[in-house]
Amino acid sequence: MKNYISYLPFENIKNIPSKHISSYEYIFFLHDQCAKLLIEYGSSNIDEVGLDELIEAYSINFKNNDFDIVEVLQFFKEKSIDAPYFHFLYSKILLGLTGDLLNFIYESLKCFEKRKFSVAYSLLRKPLKENLTFICWLFNNYENFIEKFEQETDKTLNKIHESTIKSIILETINKLPLPELFDAELLYNMIFSKQHLFGLEIPCQRSTHLITSHGSHLKTGKMFINSIFDNPNETGQYQPLYISLPYIMLFTSHVIFEAFNKIIRLNNKTHQHFTLTSIASYENLYSDARKRPLTKWCGKAIKEFLKCIYCNKTINLTKENSLRMFMTDKLICNHCHTHLDFPFYWLLAQTKISITSTNSDDDSAWKDTILARMFKSTEI
Ligand SMILES: [Zn+2]
Repeated sequence: MKNYISYLPFENIKNIPSKHISSYEYIFFLHDQCAKLLIEYGSSNIDEVGLDELIEAYSINFKNNDFDIVEVLQFFKEKSIDAPYFHFLYSKILLGLTGDLLNFIYESLKCFEKRKFSVAYSLLRKPLKENLTFICWLFNNYENFIEKFEQETDKTLNKIHESTIKSIILETINKLPLPELFDAELLYNMIFSKQHLFGLEIPCQRSTHLITSHGSHLKTGKMFINSIFDNPNETGQYQPLYISLPYIMLFTSHVIFEAFNKIIRLNNKTHQHFTLTSIASYENLYSDARKRPLTKWCGKAIKEFLKCIYCNKTINLTKENSLRMFMTDKLICNHCHTHLDFPFYWLLAQTKISITSTNSDDDSAWKDTILARMFKSTEI
């Protein structure tokens, strides 16, 4: 089937219009990369690293065993050993926000598979407008976020002004390894603007409320109620999703990866592989087939391996084949049409090519993390 990359089982994409299938698979691919990362960090108990030593040191001062962990961490924070406090809260909040965001996005995507558009769009609203903003804020300035979190959050973390959200997005982009990939204004419009026709705010609002009145594109007219008369066979309803969500998810996944990197550094090969495949796949979906500079660059680096093991002819990295290679570690020979396993991740690791300037296997696991500030503070 045209545009089907086989990242997802065919059963999952059979209702998606052919021209959108590869974009849909790409969104799921990004979701899954983040979910794997979340599981890895979540199961490592990294948020509790060093706590035993602190509790022991605290118990020497206070014989009372009736204390909670935040109390212990606050005690050390007051003595200028604040890194464990920030590390613990940052990790807990990030894991929680990311898990919640991914749960909502997953369920939304499953609803898009079934053409339940109204439910699907309404499920996108909270994770993208709220969870993503908080994740960006936490990543961008965790001390400021935690200061607000320590107060009454219904006042400090509620009804965030448009200008604050815009500057949070902009500052976050500037802290990513490849800031030139993202445009803050465009991202804001795609998620929040009531004027942006192919953004998500208009369909998300219409799906959440039966009647809407703000903005010329959102006003519900006479003899009408939002969404209830929509035809599930009207494939135009997928349009805002495939124009905006891949770009938003590319941004979201890069922020999540960098945010987790602040807890403890990711394996460099995994980090490089994710960065490269996420951007190169996007390039194959949304840029001119003749250009695709990143794909061409990869093609050159692994040129000698791009040969069919059956007919011995050179395999061309067409858009579909490139997506297959980046997302599934597979290729289809353009000549004899054989399906081939192609270990792109392994090859990438062998070639030692790097897409960001942070490529070094020698870096400490704690470099630039929150706990790294502890090495500069007072000994316990
Ligand atoms: Zn062949």
